Amino acid sequence: MTGQKSLLQDFREIVLDLREYLSYQKDIGVEGFPTNPEKRDSVTKRSILSIDNSGVGVYEDLSGYGEAKAGSLITLEAIRKELGDCKRCKLHSGRRNIVFGTGNKNARLLIVGEGPGRDEDIKGEPFVGKAGQLLTRIINAINLNREEVYIANIIKCRPPGNRNPEPDEIKACEPFLTKQIQAIRPEIICALGAFAAQTLLKTDEKISKLRGRFHSYHRIKLIPTYHPAFLLRNPNFKRFVWEDMQMIQKEYLSLTS
Ligand code: SF4
Repeated sequence: MTGQKSLLQDFREIVLDLREYLSYQKDIGVEGFPTNPEKRDSVTKRSILSIDNSGVGVYEDLSGYGEAKAGSLITLEAIRKELGDCKRCKLHSGRRNIVFGTGNKNARLLIVGEGPGRDEDIKGEPFVGKAGQLLTRIINAINLNREEVYIANIIKCRPPGNRNPEPDEIKACEPFLTKQIQAIRPEIICALGAFAAQTLLKTDEKISKLRGRFHSYHRIKLIPTYHPAFLLRNPNFKRFVWEDMQMIQKEYLSLTS
C-alpha cells in the first residue's frame, strides 16, 4: 500500500513537472510538439532557420533546462537576430542601445538584473557603471570572472529615469530572456534585486524573504540576492550578499568537481 502511494506521488510530481514545462514552452511561443521523430527533426531545422517575430521553436528532450550543456537548439546569435531593432514595447523610443547581455554562452552561472541604467544604455552592455564595478568584485570574490558567467537583464532597454519596468514592457521583453536561458542552459541563476527575483519567480514576496536560499526556476537553481546598486546605498547589506554568494560558490564547486 505504501509502495502504491509513493508510486502515485511520483506520478503526480511527473505530471506537475510536465505541466510546468508545457506552460513554459507556451510562454516562449512553442505551440506544439511533433510526435513523429522524423517530422520532429524537420520542424526543428525549420525553427532554427526561421528567425522572425513568430519566435524560434525549441524541440528538445523533456529532461529539464539545467541538464546537458550540449544539444541546445537555440543560439544567442539567433535570439539577438530575432530581437533585431526591437520596437515591441514603448521603451524603444528612449533607448540608445539594446542591452542584450554579455559573457560566456555556455555559462554555468547566469546573473540577471532588472534593466539597463544610463551607463549601460550608452555602452550597450549590462552592469558597466558603479554598480557594475561592484558586481565584478562580487563575482571575483567567488573566484570567477565576468567572462566565465553570463550577465543579462529582465528588460533590454533603459526605462526613462530608471523607473521600474511596467507590466506590458516585461511581457514584451521577458520572452527573450527566457530564450537566452534556454540557449545558455545555466545550472545556477542569481537574480539581482527584488524586481528580477519577483519577475522570474512570479511572486510578490520581499527580497529579504526570498534571498538566502535556492528556489527552482524550471528546475534550475535560482538564488535571489540584493542588487549592487542597492548595496552602494546600503553597504550594511553586503554581508547578506556575501552569504548568498558563498552558497552559489559551494553549488558551483559541486558542479565542477
Ligand atoms: S525593452 Fe525589450 S521588448 Fe521593449 S523595445 Fe527594448 S528590447 Fe524590445
